[in-house]
Amino acid sequence: YGTKASLQKEDSTIDGNSFKGHDMLAPFTAGWQSSDLHPLIIDKSEGSYVYDINGKKYLDALAGLWCTALGGNEPRLVAAATKQLNKLPFYHSFWNRTTKPSLDLAKELLETFTASKMAKAFFTNSGSEANDTQVKLVWYYNNALGRPNKKKFIARAKSYHGSTLIAASLSGLPALHQKFDLPAQFVLHTDCPHYWRYHLPGWHLSYFSDPLNDITCINSHGNARDRSLHLLLSLSWGAGGVIPPPATYFDKIQAVVKKYDILFIADEVICAFGRLGTMYGCDKYNIKPDLVSVAKALSSAYMPIGAVMVSPEVSDVIHSQSSKLGTFSHGFTYSGHPVACAVAIEALKIYKERNILDHVNRIAPKFQDGVKAFADSPIIGEIRGTGLILGTEFVDNKSPNDPFPPEWGVGAYFGAQCEKDGMLVRVAGDNIMMSPPFIMSPEEVDELISKYGKALRSTEERVKELKSQ
Ligand code: PMP
Repeated sequence: YGTKASLQKEDSTIDGNSFKGHDMLAPFTAGWQSSDLHPLIIDKSEGSYVYDINGKKYLDALAGLWCTALGGNEPRLVAAATKQLNKLPFYHSFWNRTTKPSLDLAKELLETFTASKMAKAFFTNSGSEANDTQVKLVWYYNNALGRPNKKKFIARAKSYHGSTLIAASLSGLPALHQKFDLPAQFVLHTDCPHYWRYHLPGWHLSYFSDPLNDITCINSHGNARDRSLHLLLSLSWGAGGVIPPPATYFDKIQAVVKKYDILFIADEVICAFGRLGTMYGCDKYNIKPDLVSVAKALSSAYMPIGAVMVSPEVSDVIHSQSSKLGTFSHGFTYSGHPVACAVAIEALKIYKERNILDHVNRIAPKFQDGVKAFADSPIIGEIRGTGLILGTEFVDNKSPNDPFPPEWGVGAYFGAQCEKDGMLVRVAGDNIMMSPPFIMSPEEVDELISKYGKALRSTEERVKELKSQ
């Protein structure tokens, strides 16, 4: 939400064309926004900055959409793409035909994941396709094992897993369901373990010693072996407002999952490759998943690519039963696109050679402490995050039960102030999200904190004004 006035951009007229009411049906944009407001047209990127079509410079505090890990002009990624484009711009990977970059990337990618053993990688174009693929893989696996009823999935409130039919169903955000006839019936949603927002008397203790809601959800769907469930969990709840899990949350979940023979799918689309200061979120939280989804930083977003990593248990069944099952009839024209794979191989090489985790761990405390220092603002309920990901939630009276009136557009106003001052953040209602590129310098982190503080002070003033009216 947000009012027209609070969202109005500076005029982006170019050569007499305003681009207001442009011809694109824009993703995650309200119809009235594209018809009535000027779009922000990004034209160029450089390191942690992007430039709009009029040359205005912005610090990209969201790394595009949580993805341009190596920033805006990494020449090695451009060279890798160019080299591959000149040699073989495309060939597919169907029917046991494939390309060398896709084979090489599968090997490299599997080696990066050490939390549990992964045997195979399947390539997609996006995180949504990776999560859709997870569901199909698990169904296929259970059909192969003669368990045709074991088809349900648990995902959680506030999670975001993508916007294709299955990924949107798995997501726990009502806006992705309403008006789209979703979620699909095989998806169950359980609570998001967000203590500040949802705490109930006794909830704190019982939840942390026993992830009650997940157990209830599993028990109420009967004998898991025959009937139900798999679990798809995002590790950071990025788009739902950045909600890091409580300390022992995943330990407890894993015990339940093991007991009921449930496959654990880790959605690492935001966390993988260093965002939390570890190569994977699973390393940070000591998770041993059966299946993993990645995308975004896999190619630092220079080419669209995602992947599913599959445990030996699942892949062995698919392989050993192939005479009975026939072809694994799932795939995309661009699964393992050679140019995307060449770029991803180079990105993984750069993460390793430049010790990107060390850099993330050097700047993350500055980023976390610098932004969290504003937590006592009267309009902030909570600032939360870890590594290079942070969410800020605006509320009145510092209480989760006192949201600001949506028509005040407090979050939108904050976002617009940042934009005016040359910084891009993600606004979702009164939640603000930031996930800077891994390569951000300490000076750029200082700039981010100073711009955040300036936008916050001006938003506090705005709230005061609105309250006095
Ligand atoms: N999972 C998570 C955790 C995500 O954050 C996203 C995208 N923000 C997706 C899946 C979907 O990825 P994509 O937009 O590439 O389809």
